[in-house]
Amino acid sequence: MPAPHVRFAPSPTGFLHVGSARVALFNWMFARHHGGTMALRIEDTDPARSRDELVEGIERTLRWLALDWDGEVVRQSQRLHLYREAAAQLTAEGLTYWCDCTRETVVARAGSPTSGYDGYCRDRGLSIGPSTALRLRTPDDGETVVHDIVRGEVRFDHASLEDFVVVRADTTPTFLLANAVDDADMGITHVVRGEDLLASTPKALLVRRALGHADDPVFAHLPLLVDEQRRKLSKRRHAVAVEEYREKGYLPEAMRNYLALLGWAPSGDREIVPIEEMVAEFELEAVNKSPAFFDRQKLDHINAEYLRALPVATFVRESLPWLMDDAPWPPENLDPAAFEAVAPLVQARVRTLGEVPQMVDFLFLEAPNVEDDAWEKGVARVPAAAVVLDDAIAAFEECHWDPTALHEAMVTVAEGHGLKLSKAQAPVRVAVTGRTVGPPLFESLHVLGRERTLERLRAARDRLAAGHPSPR
Ligand code: GLU
Repeated sequence: MPAPHVRFAPSPTGFLHVGSARVALFNWMFARHHGGTMALRIEDTDPARSRDELVEGIERTLRWLALDWDGEVVRQSQRLHLYREAAAQLTAEGLTYWCDCTRETVVARAGSPTSGYDGYCRDRGLSIGPSTALRLRTPDDGETVVHDIVRGEVRFDHASLEDFVVVRADTTPTFLLANAVDDADMGITHVVRGEDLLASTPKALLVRRALGHADDPVFAHLPLLVDEQRRKLSKRRHAVAVEEYREKGYLPEAMRNYLALLGWAPSGDREIVPIEEMVAEFELEAVNKSPAFFDRQKLDHINAEYLRALPVATFVRESLPWLMDDAPWPPENLDPAAFEAVAPLVQARVRTLGEVPQMVDFLFLEAPNVEDDAWEKGVARVPAAAVVLDDAIAAFEECHWDPTALHEAMVTVAEGHGLKLSKAQAPVRVAVTGRTVGPPLFESLHVLGRERTLERLRAARDRLAAGHPSPR
C-alpha cells in the first residue's frame, strides 16, 4: 500500500471524549503501521468553538497519550476562504441553490419533525441574502456507495438524501462542506472516524464529487462505545473525558493500551501489549463492527497492572503530585522517606494514582481519620476489641520495632484470646489507620513508629471506654 495520509479531525468541545481519543489512536496506529502520516485538523468553523484554549486542550491531551501528529495543526477557522471558494465553484456550476426555509416551515410542510428537507426552494430562483442558506442539489435517482473497511459496502439511496445545506445563512460553511473540502485538499487517503458519522458520508462524497474529485478516500467507521447496558456513552451518565481519567491518576500508557482494545484486539488473547507491538500488528481490516463495551473495571485492571510494572522509584515520583496537591494533611507533614518505605506495598494495591493518598494518609495526618463505618465494623462491634487493644499496647511498648517482631507480638495477643490473627488485627488497624483495609499492617506500623502507634491505640482505647465500659 502507498503510504496513507490520515487525519484526526476533532471538533473542539472543551475535553477529549474517550471515543474521540480511540479514533485518534486508531488513525495513529494505522498511519504508523504503514509508514504514513497523520494530520491533526481542528474542525472549528463554529466561531464559539474556535477558541485557542480549546484547541490547546486537545493538543495537550493527545500529547499526554503520546499520540503525535505530522505537520502543523490545521485549523478550519483559518481556511474559511477555501470553503467560500468551493461554494462559489459549486454555485457557478449550477449545483446549488439558495433557500430561505426555516426548520419550522420545513416541518410544517412535511407534517413531521423528523423528515428531511423537501426541495421546496429548488426552482424558486432565490439569491443570496441575510436569511438564505446554500443547499447542494442532490441527485434524485441512483445511489452512493461507501466503501468501508469495517462495514463493507454501505449503500445510500439518493431518493432519501435531502438537498443539504453547505453554507448557512450566517455565511459559515457547514461541517459537510469544510470536511469534504479539507479531506480532498489535504490528500487524505483514509478517513477513520466514529460510526456516528457514517450517515453523513454519502453527503460528503457528493460534495467531493461535485467539486471534481473523482477518487473517494477509503473509509473505516469505528464501532460506537457503549456501557454495560449497551447505551451509548454520554457525558451526562458516564465519565467520558480523557482529562478526567488523567486527573484520577490513570497512566497514559495504560489508557492508550485500553483504548486500543475498543473494537480491536492484538493477537494471542493478550490485553496488555506494548504500543510498538500493537502498531506492528494493527490493521483496520481487523476492527470489529459491533459496538465496543467501555469497561471501567477492565480499564482499572489494566491501569493497576501498568502501575505495578513501574520501577518503584518511578511509582514514587508519579505519586508525589497526588500527595502534594489537595492532600488531606498539612503539606509540611508529607514525609517522602516514609512514603518511599511503604511505596512498594501501596503500588501493589492501588488501581489509580488517585487512590494513593487514602492508602497512606495515616502516615501524614496528625490523627487518623477514623471513618464511622470502619470504627463500627473493626472496633465497636468486635467483642474482644478492648482487651485486644490493651494487650497490643502492652506488647508494642516492649517489642522490637520491626515488622517481624510486631507480627509475632500480635500473634501472641490473638492466641491469648483464641482469635485468628486477622480478627485480632482489625481493631489495631482501624485504631491506627482509620480504615479496615490498607497496606499490610505491620509494615505500616513499622513506618509510623512506636510513639505514634501507641498514641493512636490509647486514643482508640479511650474512645471505646467512653462508649463501652471496659470488661476488665
Ligand atoms: N469533527 C468531527 C467530530 O468531531 C469528525 C469529523 C471526521 O472525522 O470526519 O465529530
